Amino acid sequence: MKRKTKLIHGGVRTDPLTGAVSIPIYQSSTFKQESVGVHNGFEYSRTGNPTRQALETLIAELESGKAGFAFSSGMAAITAVLMLFKSGDHIIFTDDVYGGTFRVVNKVLNRFGIQSSFIDTSNIEVIKNEIRTQTKAIFLETPTNPLLKVTDIKSIVDLAQRFQLMTIVDNTFATPYWQNPLELGVDVVLHSGTKYLGGHSDVVAGLVVAASEGLAQELHFIQNSTGSILGPHDSWLLIRGIKTLGVRMEEHEQNARTIVTFLDNHEKVKKVYYPGLDSHPQYQWVQKQMRGYGSMVSFELSDEINVDEFLKKLNYFTLAESLGAVESLISVPAKMTHASIPPERRKELGISDSLIRISIGLEDADDLIEDLDFSLKKDE
Ligand SMILES: *Cc1c(COP(=O)(O)O)cnc(C)c1O
Repeated sequence: MKRKTKLIHGGVRTDPLTGAVSIPIYQSSTFKQESVGVHNGFEYSRTGNPTRQALETLIAELESGKAGFAFSSGMAAITAVLMLFKSGDHIIFTDDVYGGTFRVVNKVLNRFGIQSSFIDTSNIEVIKNEIRTQTKAIFLETPTNPLLKVTDIKSIVDLAQRFQLMTIVDNTFATPYWQNPLELGVDVVLHSGTKYLGGHSDVVAGLVVAASEGLAQELHFIQNSTGSILGPHDSWLLIRGIKTLGVRMEEHEQNARTIVTFLDNHEKVKKVYYPGLDSHPQYQWVQKQMRGYGSMVSFELSDEINVDEFLKKLNYFTLAESLGAVESLISVPAKMTHASIPPERRKELGISDSLIRISIGLEDADDLIEDLDFSLKKDE
């Protein structure tokens, strides 16, 4: 089955009970047992729910894994994965990971003795130097947020396997449509389903897929024990979103290409970050591991532009956190998504106050360009 077909016919195709083509929302907390322990595979919705299971089967198939798990948010998914580790374990992270990942590791999981290093994972030597006897895993985000840095997944998997380290990839930006880390040997892939997978800014969700049966069992145990599951209605919304992921990603990319060319040639834009630009520093890895580039673009405004005024003039780009939906969004990472990262650390990473991140939606590219062009003009 080709990828676009799998988005629509993967997972549980129709409801086994009624034949309903759209998997019903099984809004039930519990399920009747014929006699003690004899049931149709469902007992209690924290442990398993048919609508959630349809989504979990679908994402497992899309990521070529053994089993999928749906959580109440991307952060719940990330936290559950990090619960695979114990006090004293050390984990290596990509330095410009999602701000919430940095926060949960440094402000919550540190209380439970999880050790961490945040380093430039696009440099394999830097990773090698960071591996200690307590190191248990490498957690990658590629492309990263907001600087769209890319890590060579395959060579990190090779390194990790030599040191018997688990590899985890946050695949939110690329989506399973453009990148499949498990096919490169990664152990666990995760997503904020809130973004491209949902695609309509109407659901907060997280997904995890495990490559092995052992990890699948452990993750199910953690999901059921800690309980941050995705509800049936939100599971249904995510299934519905995923059906159109292919057409959306293709169209997002068309728009992104047009807008990147416009920004790259604009005198008020100092620098553009986009994995599809052949000037991208890791373009050769992008070509190797991604089939497409997404529609997340960051750019540095020239000093003459006042960021607040620029944002106020925009009409179609909504100032909001989040990304990957049909409507174009704009944000200032230093003040919004990455505000939880200390200013000195932001400076080291290159996340300046004039760095703008856009999530290019599915509006007509001409309208989006007109909007940006108007807002980049200085008031006379
Ligand atoms: C949004 C996001 C998360 C967190 O997901 P939530 O659904 O907001 O909890 C994690 N990683 C990346 C890359 C994200 O963009």
